[in-house]
Amino acid sequence: MKDLIKGLREFQNSYVPQHKELLQELSHGQHPRVLFITCSDSRVQPELITQSDLGDLFVIRNAGNIVPPYGATNGGEGATIEYAIKSLDIQHIVVCGHTTCGAMKGLLQVGELEEKMPLVYNWLKHTEATRELVEEHYGHLAKSEKLSTLVAENVLTQIDNLKTYPSVRSHLHRNEVQLHGWIYNIVDGTVLTYDRANHTFVSIANSPYERPKASSLDDQGYGSSRLAQGQRDRIFRGSPAFYHR
Ligand SMILES: [Zn+2]
Repeated sequence: MKDLIKGLREFQNSYVPQHKELLQELSHGQHPRVLFITCSDSRVQPELITQSDLGDLFVIRNAGNIVPPYGATNGGEGATIEYAIKSLDIQHIVVCGHTTCGAMKGLLQVGELEEKMPLVYNWLKHTEATRELVEEHYGHLAKSEKLSTLVAENVLTQIDNLKTYPSVRSHLHRNEVQLHGWIYNIVDGTVLTYDRANHTFVSIANSPYERPKASSLDDQGYGSSRLAQGQRDRIFRGSPAFYHR
């Protein structure tokens, strides 16, 4: 706790006086343009990894960056999504998973959790579609490779779940919101983004927003992807998201 209080003092003595105008402006209301959904994991900090400031990101965090399908719970996720879309007019939603996610490790052995951590067990049921898909289509993979696949497929499952929300679906229909799938690598800080056209995750540097105009995607290949070639060939081919996009 001492460290937290020391941090608070530093924030008040340093950041606050340097950002008086921003704080004053934000006191009249927030206008974030991104809803960032990620894991509660302490190694993933949305504002830090995107170098965002106060007021930039509207954030949902929970174990496994899970979006329960519409109507599945009365939890805060649904209310926060609805508020983001209807009141804040959010135009981009990022679902950001991360490497070596503890929640995804739990999903790999979910049966063992039922007695030990019943609340976690119940929570992970909201992404049962991910577990079943990976067990059925990638059951032959080694444990670490299966975990990477689970992390990636889980992001796509949550994007599918977002589409079950009437507010999201309606705004998607009018092209007023875009959904993005990211995987953050906790070892080197790199981010992969879901490339819908090629049904795979690529380095964010190869995404349409950052892709250099001078060179083509073919030239760059997917060399910067964190996934092995073999895995890239196998991954996402069994995903419902793959077939319905
Ligand atoms: Zn996690």
